[in-house]
Amino acid sequence: MPDRPRRPSRRTNSSRGGAARPLPGHALHAPEVIEHGARKSEAQHRRDLCAAGRWMQERGFISATEGNLSVRLDAQRILTTPTGVGKCWMQPGDLVMVDLHGRTIGGNNAPSSEMAMHLTFYLRRPDVNAICHAHPPTATGYAAAGIALDKALLSEIVLTLGAIPLAPYATPGTAEVPEALAPLIEHYDAILLANHGVVTCGPDLLTALYYMENAEHCARVSLVTEVLGRKRLLTRAEVEKVLAARPRHGLPPATPGIPRPLAADSSGAVDERVSLTREELAGLIEDAVRSDRHRR
Ligand SMILES: [Zn+2]
Repeated sequence: MPDRPRRPSRRTNSSRGGAARPLPGHALHAPEVIEHGARKSEAQHRRDLCAAGRWMQERGFISATEGNLSVRLDAQRILTTPTGVGKCWMQPGDLVMVDLHGRTIGGNNAPSSEMAMHLTFYLRRPDVNAICHAHPPTATGYAAAGIALDKALLSEIVLTLGAIPLAPYATPGTAEVPEALAPLIEHYDAILLANHGVVTCGPDLLTALYYMENAEHCARVSLVTEVLGRKRLLTRAEVEKVLAARPRHGLPPATPGIPRPLAADSSGAVDERVSLTREELAGLIEDAVRSDRHRR
């Protein structure tokens, strides 16, 4: 079962009192540390958002000036990435402070173009303190193909995210985006945005980043099963057993109202696609033409 995001159990001499868990990176510079938790100084939140931006760009989850991040500082203030700035170059002073109406209350840049999307999460989900939006290639490929990652394919995804649904297409940076997400926000921590990308949320920034990585990993594995031509889904009973383990992994219990991923024995889970070799397809066409001639 997963090494689920959790608070450090070992204390250190750090002034913040927690054992730091660095995000593994493949950059040449020393790995930057983002600690779990939403209660940090504003200066630490600023450093963490910059580290998170570099982390996303180093993994190819975003390119150029794409993507955006935010954290809830308190009941009134959100700290977010600026629009039009490469997240790998971002400095703590570049970040923008907004209120819950999206009005800038600090910083010299314009806030993220997807601020309305972020605010919708904060307004509807009191448990959410961080949002991560990116375009990781495989998960975004599923979003562009119109395919949700909502099947009970991987036990660890069932445990942490349940399923990753697909929100209908909405023009990026407009009010259409929160409208498209509204029916899903309360039930899911990772959502595909059709023809666009992925948004994840969490109780803190590190969890939201991990969920983004989980979503991309789930998409890669799903793609492999499609190359292999077979998906063996968990049954509904297996799904419930996995979900029952959530409290043991520090996750809130899965309430009965939360939509479950499609299981092997769920209605509608049957994969209607059929794969044929070129030869088999040619044979079927030949048979159809022959029987048509015979009928005439
Ligand atoms: Zn985007």
